[in-house]
Amino acid sequence: MFENLSERLGGVFDRLTKQGALSEEDVRTALREVRVALLEADVSLPVARQFIKAVKKKATGAAVTKSVTPGQQVVKIVHDELIAVLAGEDGDPGKLKIDNPPAPILMVGLQGGGKTTTTAKLAKRLRERDGKKVLMASLDVNRPAAMEQLAILGQQIGVDTLPIVKGEDPVAIAKRAKTQAGLGGYDVYMLDTAGRLSIDEELMAQVEAVRDVANPRETILVVDGLTGQDAVHTAENFDNRIGISGVVLTRMDGDGRGGAALSMRAITGKPIKFVGLGEKMDALETFEPDRVAGRILGMGDIVALVEKAQATLEAEQAERMMKRFQKGQFNMNDLKMQLEQMMKMGGMEGMMQMMPGMGKMAKQVGEAGIDDGMLRQQIALIQSMTKTERANPQILQASRKKRIARGAGLEVSDLNKLLKMQRQMSDMMKKMGKMGKGGMMKQAMR
Ligand code: GDP
Repeated sequence: MFENLSERLGGVFDRLTKQGALSEEDVRTALREVRVALLEADVSLPVARQFIKAVKKKATGAAVTKSVTPGQQVVKIVHDELIAVLAGEDGDPGKLKIDNPPAPILMVGLQGGGKTTTTAKLAKRLRERDGKKVLMASLDVNRPAAMEQLAILGQQIGVDTLPIVKGEDPVAIAKRAKTQAGLGGYDVYMLDTAGRLSIDEELMAQVEAVRDVANPRETILVVDGLTGQDAVHTAENFDNRIGISGVVLTRMDGDGRGGAALSMRAITGKPIKFVGLGEKMDALETFEPDRVAGRILGMGDIVALVEKAQATLEAEQAERMMKRFQKGQFNMNDLKMQLEQMMKMGGMEGMMQMMPGMGKMAKQVGEAGIDDGMLRQQIALIQSMTKTERANPQILQASRKKRIARGAGLEVSDLNKLLKMQRQMSDMMKKMGKMGKGGMMKQAMR
């Protein structure tokens, strides 16, 4: 799901990664695309606007323009903001208030939204994960098939259902469920109310009456996540009239555009507790804001794009280094970068494998005493130097050497080895630099 948003953002960030730093204009352009994408994903206009405003405020800050990878920065800000909106402050997804047994849970929603299925899924979860004894009761007196359906699901998952008594009204059933739950030592009893195809007065009055007798600990609205804006309107209606404590979005396994989750949270302010991911009794998961945000963004693609940007940046760095080497400049900063590069390429061995004709250098490096375990120590020594020392390693005399070695938790002899290596590499770099663009160093950096 969420392909539209993912693809669109992919295009935006692709463009951004081609530029060095993120300007205000870049932010504006990117956010215009994000806004259109959100609307296409069925996020409501006011929510999209509010979202963009919040992101813009954060994105045009100094951190973005100074950032090495602006694309990454924007992704992170959009991602974080999505999580913030989806989670809210009182999120606590996956949790239900079920203290003081027997705790009543009222399940409400429109017909076909998945209310009965979700009631059974939740009951199963409460029993299996929390070890609760659960009783389910169907209050859908107009549809005997619905009552039957709950009884069948109960048998299937091994959860008790209140025996069906013909001719009873919903309030009477709710009262009987309460009594039965108390007598039977149940921790939780769930009331599956009747649904209608759309919101009507009779339905609301009925649910209200049940609510007043049951005094539920949780009133959970079950809505079809595929219905987008309609789901949000349904939630607003139920909340105004009945008062809901949380939402379950069903059919999130479908190819809906997913904006419903964002709008739902932003408009109703009610926490999304669970998502339904299929028809099976196990297909209910805790609503996880970071996962949903990741899906909305299609993080996989974008992370790949950001990595691509990073690679471009490294290639540019390598190019700059080449130019310096050709002039015979190679200090401790360069060495550090080389060492870090080596670590990334899989240590000395990986590095050597990538360099044709490196037998001689491998031998020299070996003589200087480098192995993979040492790369880390070498880097630590360089980190222990001051800026000036790194740029001009020739100024290092006894007292400075002692301080540096101590700082890295090593011996002065270790530092001497490093210095020797730097001198040797400096010489080599000079020679290789003279070999020009097609030279070994260029290949090594690829
Ligand atoms: P109710 O009228 O609100 O009680 O809806 P039901 O529980 O009877 O569900 C209606 C249909 O939706 C059934 O066929 C369910 O199997 C199906 N359903 C419920 N939840 C989900 C879900 O999360 N994903 C999918 N794909 N189908 C679901």
